[in-house]
This record gives sequence, C-alpha cells and structure tokens, in this order.
Amino acid sequence: MNDSDSAGDGIRDIERVVIVGGGTAGWMAAAALSRFLDNGRRQIHLVESDAIGTVGVGEATIPPILNFNAMLDLNENEFLRATQGTIKLGIEFVNWGGLGERYFHPFGSYGQDLHGIPFHQLWLREQARGEPGYISDFSMSAAAAAGRRFGRPSREARAPLSEMLYAFHFDASLYARFLRGEAEKRGVRRHEGRIVHVHRHGESGDVASVELESGERIAGELFIDCSGFRALLIGETLGVGYEDWSEWLPVDRAIPVPTASHGSPDPFTRSTAHGAGWQWRIPLQHRTGNGHVYCSEFIGDDEAESVLMANLESEAIAERRVIRFTTGRRKQSWSHNVVCLGLSSGFLEPLESTSIHLVQNGIQRLLALFPDHPVSPIERDEYNRGMKNLYEDIRDFIILHYKATRRDDTPFWRHVAAMDIPATLQRKIDLWRLHGRIFREGAELFGVTSWVAVMLGQNVWPGRHDPIADTLDEDKVAQAMAQMRQGYRAAAMALPSQEEFLRAAGAWAASDVRPQPIAAR
Ligand SMILES: Cc1cc2nc3c(=O)[nH]c(=O)nc-3n(C[C@H](O)[C@H](O)[C@H](O)COP(=O)(O)OP(=O)(O)OC[C@H]3O[C@@H](n4cnc5c(N)ncnc54)[C@H](O)[C@@H]3O)c2cc1C
Repeated sequence: MNDSDSAGDGIRDIERVVIVGGGTAGWMAAAALSRFLDNGRRQIHLVESDAIGTVGVGEATIPPILNFNAMLDLNENEFLRATQGTIKLGIEFVNWGGLGERYFHPFGSYGQDLHGIPFHQLWLREQARGEPGYISDFSMSAAAAAGRRFGRPSREARAPLSEMLYAFHFDASLYARFLRGEAEKRGVRRHEGRIVHVHRHGESGDVASVELESGERIAGELFIDCSGFRALLIGETLGVGYEDWSEWLPVDRAIPVPTASHGSPDPFTRSTAHGAGWQWRIPLQHRTGNGHVYCSEFIGDDEAESVLMANLESEAIAERRVIRFTTGRRKQSWSHNVVCLGLSSGFLEPLESTSIHLVQNGIQRLLALFPDHPVSPIERDEYNRGMKNLYEDIRDFIILHYKATRRDDTPFWRHVAAMDIPATLQRKIDLWRLHGRIFREGAELFGVTSWVAVMLGQNVWPGRHDPIADTLDEDKVAQAMAQMRQGYRAAAMALPSQEEFLRAAGAWAASDVRPQPIAAR
C-alpha cells in the first residue's frame, strides 16, 4: 500500500500531473498548479513542441484576471512590463447596432442604485421624460476610457474612483513566456518534443503516458490537455465529441495582423463590425493587435484580408495567416483522467475576450475539485456541469451582439438578425423588452451592466421602465443623477493618461522597441 493510501482502498494522492501543450493555457495551468500543488510530493510536467508552435493570439482579458494574478502573487507592474501590457477598461463597439453607430461596454457598474432600484431603471425613466445623457456617462471605467485615462484605484479609494474596474491587454507570447518563468521557478519540468503516441491503461481506459518522437515516455495520473485545436488527448485519444454552435455563431475564420503603434495606447479594445464579421483592435505598449474574424460562407479569405488591410491605422508588421475554427465546446471538459483547457475545450470567438477567462476558470475549478487517484466521477461530473453552464452563458451573451442588430446591409447581417437563438437567450430578451429587467443568474459571468450595455447599445429598448422606479421623486432622482455624472467626469479628468500612468508606475517596458513594418524590412 502507498504511504498516502490512507483509506487502504486503493485511493491515493495524485503524484504526477502532465500538462500537454505550452501555449497560454498550458503555462497558465503550470503556473497555477505549481503554486498550489507542488508541495514536494507532486511533480508537474509540461510537454510542448516548438515545431508545432502555439496559436499566439489572445491579447484581451476581462477583470477576473486580477484574481488570477493575485492567486499567483504576481506583481502587476512587473507583469505589465514583461508582457508589453496595457490597461483595458471595456470594449468600444462600432457599427454593431447599426452602421455609423457606436457604444461602450464598460467594466464595473453603471451609477448607484437608489433605494434598491437598479440604476439603469432610473436612467430609463429619465430617458422617457428628458435627456439624462448616455448611460456610459455613468460608469467610472467608461468615463476614464473616454478621456483615455487611467489610475489604479487603491484599497482606500472612495467612490466614484473605487468603482473603476479594469483588465489587461498583453502580448500572448510574452504572457506565456512570463508564466513559464513563474512555473519553472516553482519546479515545473518542461519537455520539448512532439507527442507521437498516447498510451492508455487497458482496464480503465485512462491515459497512462505520452510518448515523444525521441522515445521518451512521460507518465502521470492526471493529464491536462492544452494541445490547442488538435485536442490530442480529449478529442483524438478519448474521442470526446464537440458540440457545434455555428448555427448561432457562424463566424469560422480569423486573420490576425499586428501593426506598428499608433500614438499613445488607448485603454480599451475596439470591435468594428464589417460586412461579414468584425475586426478587433488591441493597443499594446509596443504594437497594436488587429484581426478580422469572419464567416467564410459570406466572404472569401482574400476579400477578408483586403477589408482588414483597408481598416488598419498603421503598417502591418507580420505576414497574414488564416486561422480556422468552429465555435462550440467539447461535450465534456473532463473525461477519464484528462481535463482539457483552452482551445482543446472549445472556442467562442474573441468578441468579449472570454477564452483566457475560460482557461482561468477551468484551472480554479480544477483546484477546487482536485481529485484523488483514481478520479471520482462525482468530482468530475461537478466540474463538467460548471464548465457547461459557463460556456453556455457566455455563448448566449455573444449571440446577443449578432441577433440584436438593425443592420440589413449585407447577407451576413440579414442572416444573423433572422436566425433562431437558444431559448435561454430568447427568455432574457423577452423579459428585457417588457420592463428592462435583467437578472444575473447563478454563477453567470456577465452581470447586469454588461447586458444593459449591449441591449441599449444595439437599440433593444424595453417597452417601458420598471414601474417601481416611478415611486421615487422625479426631481430628486434627476438631481442625484446629475451629481453622479459630474462625479464620474471630474474623477476621470483628474487621472493621468494611461501611458503617463504606466510610465510613472514602472509598468512601461524599459526597452521602447517598436517593431518595424514589413514594408521597411
Ligand atoms: C483569432 C483568435 C483571437 C483570440 N483572441 C483572444 C482574446 O482577445 N482574448 C482571449 O481571452 N482569448 C483569445 N483567443 C483565445 C486564446 O488565444 C486561446 O484561448 C489561448 O491562446 C489558448 O490557446 P491554447 O494554449 O489552448 O492553444 P495553443 O496556443 O494552440 O497551444 C497548443 C500547445 O500544444 C502543443 N502541442 C500540440 N500538439 C502537440 C503534440 N503532438 N506534441 C507536443 N505538443 C503539442 C503546441 O506545441 C502548443 O504548445 C483568441 C483565439 C483566436 C483563435
């Protein structure tokens, strides 16, 4: 009996965890697992192949990443410097609700509720009788973004600055490298080489080891599949199927292209809708990330590239490549003794920057449910249930951006505006259309502010506001709202520009090296 087989029933501690893949998902998993598991008894191994490489995109995040960084004890300024990172306060959407329109989806919340009545209901009431201004005037993050400013709210910060919520943009390759440094410091062993064979236990069917081209075999009791779209363990080896969501999210290709920096970086992502998809713009310290995500049924690769090139702010600094994908998710995120994270577990287009969050959430969930050997189906099922809910909630929120459009200028927009949507989303839209009511259910990732931002930003107006908002005195509400608006504006104007902030904080990369345009090489 093993020392740790305390119950004497063959159940023991997991001693070796093998991570397959060294992209963002693999190194995030390695950094976090080594922080919590490598207590001398457990070994963590990571296998990656330079010959295969990583997808190398994925540059925008959402606020829960602050929690992941805190979990790893990362110094935020050091992290920003190492990844050429910038601050993200939300996303500016251009041409989504209608051509020529724009709105901002901010992090954080809108205004302050009064007497328990949600702020957006007060705003809707004011809207019905006067002109309260844009709803984004009532968000600290949106007000700072509009002024292209930032200041990190301290623990002692008071409202409205304390309401500012932020995330990051960073260079995905530098992020993986940074986390690799953290993981290796904590003893993670890296193996370079292509996996050519996966060995399974005859009886249980669990994965026993992976074999490299060199003949080296790496055995373990728990495997984390971070092999990207290949899904080497969860898909190819264990045969777990894929749920295809392209009937609702039909975009299936992306062309990423970095460009030279264009002035001081903005502290927000921009998403601009085109004829058959949309384009991202993510400003980093040393360059800008851009890419066109599109639906191949409605536009060819060459035309998609031309659209992208025609909408860049500065010269491209890398050649084009086309990434193909199918939106959807792996039917089980954990099967046998294999947990999949990252692109092997599914892909939702990067419209709301949720992929890295899904990796983070998968890691945190795994740590919360860390199993023994052999794995208990109870913990595995719990994990799968949570990941399914998270994926589906995000899916619905992303579909809303397509469904809620007045655009009918191209076959693509006519198609998505007319498509059927999941019943879960339809229920939310129906409820909103009556009295502007939105509730955050269970552990949903996107809260009331996010739904309100997209609904209003894309012209989905409720028939009327919640009648309970009428119980408050009109003049007092108008006065309180005017004060809030003024407070956000004044707090934003008192902040430095984001570049000034990063430089003063020591978060600006020391080497101000900006890559050269390909034309100049
Ligand atoms: C166009 C696009 C834009 C995106 N934008 C965002 C964004 O803004 N925000 C966000 O949160 N996410 C974004 N993502 C998602 C994000 O890029 C991914 O979630 C993230 O990079 C995780 O990738 P990965 O580590 O799962 O896979 P990969 O980066 O593909 O890594 C796979 C790893 O597996 C290894 N491997 C594979 N097969 C073998 C083998 N046989 N032997 C040995 N090693 C092997 C490879 O060497 C590599 O190390 C975007 C994705 C795409 C496609």
